[in-house]
Amino acid sequence: MCGITGYTGPRQASRILVEGLKRLEYRGYDSAGIAVQQENLANDGSIELTVIKQVGKIAALRQAVPKDLAGHCGIGHTRWATHGEVTQTNAHPHSSCDGRISIVHNGIIENYQALKEMLEHSGCSFKSETDSEVIAHLISYHYDGDLELALKAALKHLKGTFGISCICADEPGRIVGARNGSPLVVGVGEGEMFLASDVTAMLAHTKRVVYLNDGEVVSLWPHEFRISDSDDQAVDPKIDHVTWELDAIEKEGFACYMEKEIFEQPDSIERALKGRMDFEYSMAKLGGLNLSKKELHAKQRVRVIAAGTSWHAGLVGCHLIESIARLPALAELASELRYRNPVVEPETLYLSVSQSGETADTLYAMREVQRRGGTVLGICNVVGSTIARESDGGIYVHSGPEIAVASTKAFTSQLAAFYLLTLSLARMHDMSHHEGAVFLQQLRDIPGLVKKALEQRDRIQVLAKKYAHNQDFLFLGRGLLYPIALEGALKLKEISYIHAEGYAAGEIKHGPIALVSPETPSVFLVPNDHLREKTITNMKEIKARGGPVIAIASEKDTEVAAIADDFIPVPDCDSRFQPFTMIIPLQLFAYFCALELGKDVDQPRNLAKSVTVE
Ligand code: GLU
Repeated sequence: MCGITGYTGPRQASRILVEGLKRLEYRGYDSAGIAVQQENLANDGSIELTVIKQVGKIAALRQAVPKDLAGHCGIGHTRWATHGEVTQTNAHPHSSCDGRISIVHNGIIENYQALKEMLEHSGCSFKSETDSEVIAHLISYHYDGDLELALKAALKHLKGTFGISCICADEPGRIVGARNGSPLVVGVGEGEMFLASDVTAMLAHTKRVVYLNDGEVVSLWPHEFRISDSDDQAVDPKIDHVTWELDAIEKEGFACYMEKEIFEQPDSIERALKGRMDFEYSMAKLGGLNLSKKELHAKQRVRVIAAGTSWHAGLVGCHLIESIARLPALAELASELRYRNPVVEPETLYLSVSQSGETADTLYAMREVQRRGGTVLGICNVVGSTIARESDGGIYVHSGPEIAVASTKAFTSQLAAFYLLTLSLARMHDMSHHEGAVFLQQLRDIPGLVKKALEQRDRIQVLAKKYAHNQDFLFLGRGLLYPIALEGALKLKEISYIHAEGYAAGEIKHGPIALVSPETPSVFLVPNDHLREKTITNMKEIKARGGPVIAIASEKDTEVAAIADDFIPVPDCDSRFQPFTMIIPLQLFAYFCALELGKDVDQPRNLAKSVTVE
C-alpha cells in the first residue's frame, strides 16, 4: 500500500513527482505530499527542502504545489494510514527537526514507540502521530555528511516492513532508498533517475527498471545509481525492460478504470491463454514452472496461499484440480496459514496467488512455507514483483496493469491460469488425450463467451438501479460457483459499501436464511449441471419466505427465468467453465450499484490496491 515516487535529473521535480503519484493513487489515497530540494531564497547557493502535503487525493496536492516550484530532485508519497489519523501533519514526507532531511515510508515500523522515546530523550521533538517519523530523526541522528551511511545506520534500529526514500538538503541531486518487505523500483533514464514503489509511476519516462531486493539500499544521482546489499557489498544491477504500454494505464474513454478493466476481460483472458494451449498433446505449455515433468508428477496435493479476490480464484482452482486432476487441493488464507505453524510436505505443491505479487500476507506465508522446505509457485500479474521473484517458479497471468482497487480482470486471468494448470496436472494423471482436447477447445472459447456475457450491461444497469438502495444482500452458489458467490459479494461490499454475504447455497438453511426478508435480495448463481436442481430448491426456499431473488443462469434456462424475480442470462457453456461467465454480471452489478449510489468506484474508502502491510 501507499505509493512512493522519487526523481533526480534536469527536469522540474515537482511535476514529475505529482504526476507519478497520480499514477500510484490507487495504492493509497488518504493524503499525499512531496519534498523537493530547492535553492535557498537568499540565493546564496545553499539548498533547502520544501515540503508540501495535503489531505485528500492527489488533485488536492496538485493544487497546493506552486506551478513554478523549482528544484530538480525530490521524493513523493501517497498515504494509506496505518498509524495516526488522516491529517496534513501525519501525511508524508516527514522531516528531521532541522528540516535538512526528509523521508517517505511505505509499511509499518513495529518498534517505533521505543525508538520515539529514545529519540525524544536525545532532544528530538515529534510532529506527527505516525510510526514513520522516527526514520527521519534516526537518519538525522546518524548523519555525518553521507545520507546512505546514515540511512544504513538507521536501518539497524528498525523492526518491521519498509520501503523508504529520503533526501538531504546537504546532498543536492541525491536520493537514497531502502527496502524490506515493501517494493521499490529504480527507473533508469537518460541523465535522470527515478525511484518508485511501482513501475507505473515512471512508465511515461522510462521502461528500464531495476527491482530492489529486501535488504538492499540504493543511492541515485541523475547520471548513476549504486546498490548495495545488507552485507554492504555492491550489487551488480540487473536492468529489466517493462513490457507494459502507457495506454494500458490510461482510461481510454471509459468513465473509470474498473469499467475499462471489466470490459477488457475478453482480451486479458486471451492474453493469459496465449501461446499456452498445446493442441497437439492436449496440454498446457507453462514454461515458468521450473519443475520437471517428473517433479510435477510427484506432487500429490495442492495448497493455495492467497488473500481476498486471489483466494476466491484459488478456491475455484482447487475445486478444479481436485475434481478434474484428482489431486486433493485446498485454498488457504495466507494470513491464517502463516501463524498456525503449518505442516509443510515435500509432496505438496504450494501456489501463492497475488495480482500485485506484493501482498504482504501472501508473501510472508510463502516464505514460511519455503523456510520449511516447501516448493512454492507464484501466480502473479506484475512481472518482477517480489512473489514472482522469490517463488520457485510460476505463471504470469498477463492481465496488464490493473488500476481499479477492486480486482476484476486479474481475477479472470488468475482463473485462466488455474484452468491451464488443472489441464497440465490432469493430463499427468487420468485425463485422456481426447478429454484434454475437449477441455482446451472449451477454454479457447472463453474470451468469446465473456464478451457475450458483457452484452447484458444495460439489463444489469437497470437491475442495479432497482436494487442498489437495499442494505443487505445474499450471494449464493454451489460447487464451482460458491467461490464466485463469495467474489460477487466482495465486489459489492468493496465499491458500493452495501453489506453482502457470500454463502454456499446449501448452507443457508443452517443459519443465514434467518436474514431473508423482502428487504434482503438473494443473488443466485444457478449452474447447468447436477447441482442445478438443488440450487433451484434453495431459490424456492428463499422465495417461500418472501425474499426477492435475482438469478443468473444459462440463457437457455427458462425454468429459472420463470421462478426468479429478476433474471440475468449468461451464454451457455460446460459447467466447468461457468465461473468465467457468471462473474461478469456480478462485477457489472457491483459497478452499477456503486455508480447509482454515487460512490468512488476506482478508489473505494478505506481500501488500497496491493496490500503491502499485514
Ligand atoms: N505507517 C505509515 C503511516 O501510517 C506509512 C503508511 C503507508 O504505507 O502509507 O503513515
